[in-house]
Amino acid sequence: MLNLKKEIICQRTDCPRPATRALTYFVDKPGIASLVPKQQMFCDEHAEDEMLSLQQPGLFTITEADGTVTVCTVSDLTNVPMFNLIDCQLDVLASNPYEMDLIAEMLNKPSQELAIWIAEWFKQPVDHVADGLKRLLEFKAVKSLGSDNTVNKARRFGIAIKDEDIGCVRSHLLEVSRAFPAAVFLLEYGDEKPNRASKRVMRAGKVVREVFDGDKQVGPWALLDIFAPFRAEYYGETAEFGSLWQPWLEAVMAAARRLKGDQTPASQQPTEATGQHA
Ligand SMILES: [Zn+2]
Repeated sequence: MLNLKKEIICQRTDCPRPATRALTYFVDKPGIASLVPKQQMFCDEHAEDEMLSLQQPGLFTITEADGTVTVCTVSDLTNVPMFNLIDCQLDVLASNPYEMDLIAEMLNKPSQELAIWIAEWFKQPVDHVADGLKRLLEFKAVKSLGSDNTVNKARRFGIAIKDEDIGCVRSHLLEVSRAFPAAVFLLEYGDEKPNRASKRVMRAGKVVREVFDGDKQVGPWALLDIFAPFRAEYYGETAEFGSLWQPWLEAVMAAARRLKGDQTPASQQPTEATGQHA
């Protein structure tokens, strides 16, 4: 949801108070853990109230195609202050320093199209949303990336957002990525409470790869570094975009098998990631 600090009001019908607490939870079908959290914002009093009602059995049901009704369960219910900020890290791998500068500029200039789309979604005035987006999308350059800092064609950015604003950030980044289709965008996002983390690779306005760790353990639990093959392609400057994905995946699986103690015959071991240059 949009970063309209003063304007978000409690989601309980007819409650005019500002929302101060975010309730986040998963609705799971029996035996199937949901990956997508639900989130609602309430005032202090109604957040407590909702916590209790969400714990009532049978609150969520799904009617299957054949008409049978499945009762879902609510899991990982958290009730946290709304203004916990979460750090996002964005690495932009551009083609040249000029393109890098243009991307840096656009990162901090959300489009009018995005404002219109979000305004319709949340039924808010467009001007108001556009102002909110400008305040929200303040990407700060953290450092130049790469061994040669003088080249300056890859850069790391940081942004601190509220959990519920991640959707706006993602939509905005896809727009920027669409405008600069040759550049690679690596977005990492995570928080400790509730425990969620994700890594997302974007290029030419599309999500190329993504991992999401919604495991119930403390901290990122099994979040694979899916950025590795794309960084290797970029810095290696010989492999085509996406070509190192499969070798990387096989190397990761081989490493996991070794950890598990599997005795895979040597003939079935995948070749090293560098083998694809042939
Ligand atoms: Zn309320």
